[in-house]
Amino acid sequence: MTGRSRLDRSTIWPYEAGEPGDFYYSRYDHPLGVEAEHALGELDGGRGLLFASGAAAAAAAVLALLEPGRTVAIAEGGYWGTTAMLRAFERWGLRHVEFDQTGSPPGGADLVWLEAPSNPFLTFPDLEAAAGHPAPVLVDATASTPVLFRPLEHGADVVLHSATKYLGGHDDVLLGALAFRSPETYERVKAMRGLTGPIAAPDAAWLLLRSLKTLPLRVERQSRTALELARRLAAHPAVERVRYPGLDPDPLAARYMHGGFSGLLSFDVRGNARAVEAATSVIRNATSLGGVDSVLESRHRWEGDRVPANLIRFSAGLEDVETLWADLEQALAVTSA
Ligand code: PLP
Repeated sequence: MTGRSRLDRSTIWPYEAGEPGDFYYSRYDHPLGVEAEHALGELDGGRGLLFASGAAAAAAAVLALLEPGRTVAIAEGGYWGTTAMLRAFERWGLRHVEFDQTGSPPGGADLVWLEAPSNPFLTFPDLEAAAGHPAPVLVDATASTPVLFRPLEHGADVVLHSATKYLGGHDDVLLGALAFRSPETYERVKAMRGLTGPIAAPDAAWLLLRSLKTLPLRVERQSRTALELARRLAAHPAVERVRYPGLDPDPLAARYMHGGFSGLLSFDVRGNARAVEAATSVIRNATSLGGVDSVLESRHRWEGDRVPANLIRFSAGLEDVETLWADLEQALAVTSA
């Protein structure tokens, strides 16, 4: 990975002696996309494919790997947008069931969809139980990143990343990625991407190559900060509960993750989450996660009663941990004001 490649925005490349070369039309492949895919594949230990967003990657996986009448067993409490997408696909005859990913997936599923750790509940899946299921296993590893966890080494068939989050890391590019263990599955999904068109733009691939250079440094720091804040939040009187795999720590996360437990955590406040989220000053009250700037928000706003009204999701950035703690402490004071 060099990240120094020229930003080539071409959508077409001339045929050579009357024959198309590796690149001819950018909906199928373009040089920076391929370079980024090699880097992603190396990180996850498989074959990488780049998409315009995490949601686009998820939709391509569904379209390529499933058909009407099939059932997806999806981790409950995972990214609400993925479940909403599966609900939208019900019109096309696709079924889904939610299950507790810390146990075994239900029988009869045609694809097992896990999230490691889940957003925003921060549960960690039992990979061994999932790998024992006859269906292929897809792991959305957005919140762990290949720095901390490589699902293909633990029996998963496909890894999904919203690369908008940690892989991009600067809140300035929308991107998705899949990594595959089997070349045949990679080819099927790549063919679907070519047909339906959700490839990432060259500019986005270029930004990803820039970001990957600092990925391990960012993720290590963000995880360390999240762990420290999780410990302090757990001891704070205005906090009812902290959800973070590094606390205690979660035995499944401890088995599979190395070098940290994610920069993402959630905590349930005693009182009004909306008042707390609006009271921070360094930490931005915004959605998303995985960027260099810390953000927090009530997820009840988006997910409704699927999420407790007092739950706040926090994504650690690169700020000094003491600065972040001081900001959280003064914001939590509003619950007793
Ligand atoms: N998976 C997870 C765990 C996410 O958090 C998100 C977005 O928040 C997605 C997938 C979808 O990614 P994107 O927003 O890049 O489409």
